[in-house]
Amino acid sequence: MYQGKGRCACAGITYGKILHIKTPDITPAALTCQSVDQELSHLDIAINKAQIELDGLIEKARVEIGQEQAEIFEIHRMMLDDPDIVDNIRDMIKQGGISAADASIAVGKEQAAIFEALDDDYMKERSADIKDVTGRLARILRGGETVTLSESCVIVADDLQPSQTVAMDRSKILGFVLRKGTQNSHASILARTMNIPLIINANLPADLTGQGRAATESEEVLDLSGHTIALNSVKGVFYIDPDEEIVDKLKIDKDIFEQQRLRQLALRGLPGISKTGHRVHTFANIGQPDDVEQVLENDGEGIGLFRSEFLYLGRNDPPNEEEQYRAYAKVGSTMNGRLVIIRTLDIGADKKVDYFNLPVEENPALGMRALRICLTKVDIFKTQLRAIYRAAARGNIAMMFPMVTRLKEVEQAKAICAQVEQELKDEGKEYAVPKIGIMIETPAAAILSDQLAKHVDFFSVGTNDLNQYTTACDRQNQDLGDFYDPHHEAVLELLRLIAKNAHANGIPAGICGELAADPELTDLFIEMGYDELSVSPGAVLALRERVRNSETKCLNELTNSRTSLEPQKKF
Ligand code: PEP
Ligand code: MG
Repeated sequence: MYQGKGRCACAGITYGKILHIKTPDITPAALTCQSVDQELSHLDIAINKAQIELDGLIEKARVEIGQEQAEIFEIHRMMLDDPDIVDNIRDMIKQGGISAADASIAVGKEQAAIFEALDDDYMKERSADIKDVTGRLARILRGGETVTLSESCVIVADDLQPSQTVAMDRSKILGFVLRKGTQNSHASILARTMNIPLIINANLPADLTGQGRAATESEEVLDLSGHTIALNSVKGVFYIDPDEEIVDKLKIDKDIFEQQRLRQLALRGLPGISKTGHRVHTFANIGQPDDVEQVLENDGEGIGLFRSEFLYLGRNDPPNEEEQYRAYAKVGSTMNGRLVIIRTLDIGADKKVDYFNLPVEENPALGMRALRICLTKVDIFKTQLRAIYRAAARGNIAMMFPMVTRLKEVEQAKAICAQVEQELKDEGKEYAVPKIGIMIETPAAAILSDQLAKHVDFFSVGTNDLNQYTTACDRQNQDLGDFYDPHHEAVLELLRLIAKNAHANGIPAGICGELAADPELTDLFIEMGYDELSVSPGAVLALRERVRNSETKCLNELTNSRTSLEPQKKF
C-alpha cells in the first residue's frame, strides 16, 4: 500500500478504481504532413467539429452545473474565432512542413506562455483555456476520442483541462487526484461546483513496490490505471491499493463525513459562539494565496495563520517586495474585511532554501530559523515588512513573528518595523500599520508570556513547535511512538498559562497549530479562554459546530481588551 498526500481543493472521502489520464501528447505527432492546402482544409473541418463539440459542452454545463460555469466553454468557442490563435495556426501551416495538428499545439504553447508570464492570476489561468482549445483541435485532427468513462472511477492525472472535467460523465467520477493543479484552476472550481472530492499537488508514486516511492519532480508517475485508491481529501491523504483495514475505516469516515457536512454547511454565516456565550473566532490556516478560495467556501471567519514562507520555497531567489505585496494584498482584499494574520518568514529547520546560504547545522530545529534569520538578514526582513505594511492598506491585515523566545527579539523586530514605517512614510507610499502579534511556540515564550503580552497585540500558539520544544520530541520523527503525545500535560499546562497571561494583559489568544483542530480539546480550549482557533480550511465548519454545541464554561474570559480580533471598521 502506498500512502500519499496533497492539498484539499474539494473536501470529500471516496474509494474506487483509478483511471489514470496521461497528459495529452504535446510532442509533434508522427503524422505525415500533407500539402499546405490539405492541412488548411483539415484545420477548417477540425474547427467546425470543435465548434459542434463545444456547443454540446456548453449545453451540458448549463444544465448540469449552471450558466456561470458554462461560460468557460463559451470563451473556448470564441477562441476558435480568435485571430491570435486561428490565424497563427494557418500562418504556421502556410510556412510549410508542419501538420495542422502540430501547428495547433505549437501555437497553443506559444500563446499559453504569453498568458502564463502575466502577473495577474486570473489571466494566468487563461493559459489553461488556450491549451484546452488548441489541444481539442489537435485531438480532432489526429482522430482522437474524448475520455469516456465506462465505470465509476477516481481520475488520477497530472492536471486536468476544464473541458475534460465537464465532458466526463459526472455520475461516474468518484474523485480526482492531481499531481499539479491550483485552487483557482477551472478544473478545481468545476470539481467544487460538482462537489467531487479533489486532491491537488499530490505526491503520486513512481514505484509501488513495498511501501512505494513518490515520484521526484522530474520523474514520471507510474501508470496507475486499474489500481484502487482510497482518498480523504479533508485530510489531504490518499492510499493506493489500500488494505482492508484502511478501506473499512474510510467507509465509516465517509458516512460520518457526509452527514456532518450537510449539518455543517448550514453553519455558514453563523459565528463561533458556545452555548455558554464564549466567542471563539473560527479561523483558517493557509499556505498559499489561492487557498483563500477554500477559506471562503468554508466560511472561515478570518485567516489565523498565513504561512508566508511558502512564497520563498522552491525557487532560486527570494520573492521581491512587489511580488509579496501582490500576494498579501490579494489575500487581504479577497477576504473582504475579515482578519488575515500573516506570519513573517519561518524558514529553517525542515523548510530550507539554498539562497540564504545558511551553514549546515547539526540541529536545525534549534538553529537559525524564523525570526532569528530575519533579525540577522535584516534586508530580507525589511522587504517582507514593507510588503505587509503596504498590503495592510488594502485589507484587514495583521502580522506575527514566529519562534520568539524573549522580549529582546520582539523589541528588535519592532524597531525594524518602525524603520520600515518611517521609510514608507518618507517615500509617500500608501501603507497602514498592522497589529503585531507573536507566535508562542517555544517554552521560553510561554514562560515569559506575561511580560511579552505587554508589548504585543495578540498571541497565537504554535502547538506543533511548542510540543516539540517542550517534550523534546522531534515533530518530524515518526518513530517516537507514545513518547510523542499531542495531549502532553506539560503542553496543556503551558496553553492554560499563555491564555491566562494574554487576558491578564488585555490581549486575545489563539491557537494555530494542529492541536486547534483536535475535537477532544475544543471544550478545554473554551474553558481556558481561547478567543480564536485556526485550522485547515476544510476543518473550519466542524470546529464551529463543536464550539456552538459546547456547554463548557469559560474560566478566563477576555475583559478589558486592548486589541480585538473583530473586523476593523475602516475596511
Ligand atoms: C506550529 O508550530 O504549531 C505552527 C503553527 O507553525 P509551523 O507548523 O508552520 O511551524
Ligand atoms: Mg511553528
